[in-house]
Amino acid sequence: MSAAAVGSRTGGCLCGSVRFKADLTTLAFGACHCEMCRRWTGSALLGITVPSRNVQWEGDAQIARFQSSDWAERAHCRTCGSALFYHVTADGPHAENIEMPIGLFDDANGLTFSNEIYIDHKPDSFAYTGDHPRHTRKETLAKFGISEEEDLA
Ligand SMILES: [Zn+2]
Ligand SMILES: [Zn+2]
Repeated sequence: MSAAAVGSRTGGCLCGSVRFKADLTTLAFGACHCEMCRRWTGSALLGITVPSRNVQWEGDAQIARFQSSDWAERAHCRTCGSALFYHVTADGPHAENIEMPIGLFDDANGLTFSNEIYIDHKPDSFAYTGDHPRHTRKETLAKFGISEEEDLA
């Protein structure tokens, strides 16, 4: 059973080859400052968790998947390179969801900035305002029950 939808958003990649409609189950999104998200997005990943089955894609053939670690993949548009989603491929509760950059939405207004993770990996060159929780890498891994040797990436 999926959680109650809180509204749907349309969006797509830079070139428009990939479009989607996502039925959101939360308006809360977070920022990840880990090195992989930084390289993937060019800054920090501002992502929102969406159940995979709640997303209807158009232009699937344009979606390329990159296995970024043993337990997760990251998808992008083959033509323009826009980051489309992060997906945990390892078995577990997270596998049913994808993390979508809110920048893909045609309208990203009205969402709630709820947390930052890997805050200790954020460059000191910038900082987001707001008094949402901020977790270090160590705290983030502990929250997900992952040992320090492994990583979320
Ligand atoms: Zn594209
Ligand atoms: Zn990350």
